[in-house]
Amino acid sequence: MLSLQKYRARPGLAAVSALVLAAAAAVLLVLLPERWERILVAALTFLAGAAFAVLLARRARSREQARIEELETAEARHSALLDGLPLVTWLTAPGDRSETLYISPSIAEVTGYSPSEWVEQPELHVNLLHPDDRERVVSEFERTSTGAPVHSLEYRLLARDGRAVWVREDTATVRDSKGEPLYVQTFLRDVGELKRGDDRRELLQSAEREAASESAERRSRLDLLRHVGNEISAGIDLDPALAEVAELIVVDFADWCLIDVADDANDLRRVAVARGATTSPSGGRVPADDPEPEVKAVLEQGRTSVLPAIDERSKAERVSLGDLEARSVVSVPLLARKQQLGVLTVARTERGPAYSSEDVALAEDLAARLALALDRGRLYHEVEERSDAAWVLEHVADGILLLDRLGVVRLWNPAAEAITFISTADVVGHAAAEAIPGWKTAVERVPVSASPDPGHDEVLIPIETSRGERWIAISGVRFFGGTVYAFRDLTDTRRLEEIKADFIATASHELRTPLAAVYGAAQTLLRHDFALDETGRERFVSLIADESERLGRIVNEILLANQLDAGRLDLDSEPFDAGDLVERVVEATRTHAPPSVTLEVEAPENVPQVAADADKVRQVLVNLVENAIKYSPDGGRVEVGIEERDGFLRFHVRDEGLGIAPEDQEQIFEKFYRADPQMTRGVGGTGLGLYICRELIDRMGGRIWAEPNGSKGSMFVFELPTAEVMAHGQRGGPRLQLG
Ligand code: ADP
Repeated sequence: MLSLQKYRARPGLAAVSALVLAAAAAVLLVLLPERWERILVAALTFLAGAAFAVLLARRARSREQARIEELETAEARHSALLDGLPLVTWLTAPGDRSETLYISPSIAEVTGYSPSEWVEQPELHVNLLHPDDRERVVSEFERTSTGAPVHSLEYRLLARDGRAVWVREDTATVRDSKGEPLYVQTFLRDVGELKRGDDRRELLQSAEREAASESAERRSRLDLLRHVGNEISAGIDLDPALAEVAELIVVDFADWCLIDVADDANDLRRVAVARGATTSPSGGRVPADDPEPEVKAVLEQGRTSVLPAIDERSKAERVSLGDLEARSVVSVPLLARKQQLGVLTVARTERGPAYSSEDVALAEDLAARLALALDRGRLYHEVEERSDAAWVLEHVADGILLLDRLGVVRLWNPAAEAITFISTADVVGHAAAEAIPGWKTAVERVPVSASPDPGHDEVLIPIETSRGERWIAISGVRFFGGTVYAFRDLTDTRRLEEIKADFIATASHELRTPLAAVYGAAQTLLRHDFALDETGRERFVSLIADESERLGRIVNEILLANQLDAGRLDLDSEPFDAGDLVERVVEATRTHAPPSVTLEVEAPENVPQVAADADKVRQVLVNLVENAIKYSPDGGRVEVGIEERDGFLRFHVRDEGLGIAPEDQEQIFEKFYRADPQMTRGVGGTGLGLYICRELIDRMGGRIWAEPNGSKGSMFVFELPTAEVMAHGQRGGPRLQLG
């Protein structure tokens, strides 16, 4: 049996069944005899047909229903699929984008406009196009509407809230099986995020490019700083180095670079003017040789000047620096240890933009380096000056003593050491009162002035040294840190003064004695009441003659000493026989030598001749022999001798008299020096004799000295070059000094 389902499922079977039924009914209608039977068969056939038709109709409806349901499900799935896609699906009528067939609700998220607004407002899409993109996109639409199968575009839509949303659309025309266009399907994707990614990438790239160029610029700036550093660290003479630095600065950083340096009086001097290689002096205008008032103001105020100021710039503005017209000028003071040492000025007249704050920072960096170099140069000169001063103090003949406010010795120069025999190590750092013997009492007498003006007083004070008393002339100058004393050793001068005073006393005594004798003798001779026999008269006359001669000798000594001092003495140099001279001197002396003295000559037979002034040699010999007798009050043997020694003829005068203390052996040859000035031994003299002897012998190329004569008395020795030596100039030394 056929079930309804079978019929529903098999329409062919149903049709065959219907045909079989209809054929059977037709046969029955023909075959049945009875009318009612035929009516019945017809009615049954009709009923069966009707039932069959109803069956068919129901089946058709239910199939339709099933199809619709199926379609709806498919549609729901499709729209769910479309709606669920992360993009906007937009279906439009073919050839007319303004007619929206469908648009997925996600359009509202992208643009803020609902799908219904899109459907109702045909121009909405075009209206939402970003003005910058509209022309491009519309022309693209026009081009593709004419049949391009697929296209993609990126453009911005203006969302309801005003945002510009970057979208990418991919459009394709959907066609039926015959190739007729059904609709146009467009997918819109919000590519803002991607775009922002791109933008960020672009941004990053440009930042990278900027960083690269910045780092190149920074490197070039560092190079500049390094080169400038090298330049100014190289030498002490800064002017040429500053000129080089200015040249370096105008390579990239400026069209003009000016460096002005302040002197001690804070006046600026322009030491460098450099112009960039490509800079043309506009209208012949170049910076002046002297710093401009603007530059001076920078030094005075100690602040960087940027013209025009960074926050007040208009593009076309020009500024002027003296004669120079510039786009931008930066002047930076050169400051080191709070001192204003100069000004660095850079100007852009042609190249590059106005100076930025980084540029100003670079200029300040450069200025700091220059300032350091200038400061170093100044310090160097100060040190040099100080070392000059120290050098002077080292070598000055005056003793210099510097005491700080507490009376502690801070400086004690070599001359001070030499004068006082107190070593620097023993005084510096110690209180002067403790380190310098006698200072405490002496200092009260030392005049101290407030300024080192010339002509201030100095006082002569004695100080005790390890080698006896020294006399120093000393004065002081007070300054904020203490007192500086300068002193000179006047021990010798003082002794000379004393000796001179003694000389005057001695000389007047020496002169008075013979004068008194002469005067007495003359008075006696003149007295008429006093009868003198011939012998007595002769005695007085010869006394007058002797004393006059003594007077004359003293006066001659004084005159000769004066002549020697003034260098006004002419000496002869003739060879003569020294043996003969000795004989004659001794012979002459014998005539008036006291009987207690024995005069003897010790001379070999053949002594070489001496080339000298015979008269002066005789004078020396006489003086020595006279002294030998004079300083032998108890008499004794006086020996005068000669001998040859190494090209010299050596004379000696030996006595057994008072002798000479070892400490006097040198000094007795000094002018006016007398070993016994008070004449305690009753022997007078001027103290000039030995001085004259040494001066004469020195001038004749010889030397003279004194030594003890064994255990008693003294021996005076002098030697002169032989005539032969003088003639051949042998032994390099002896030379006749005239005058
Ligand atoms: P004066 O006129 O005092 O003799 P001199 O210059 O001749 O001057 O001598 C200087 C000093 O040298 C003398 O004052 C004396 O003290 C010392 N003098 C010189 N000759 C002798 C001597 N032969 N013996 C000891 N002392 C002497």
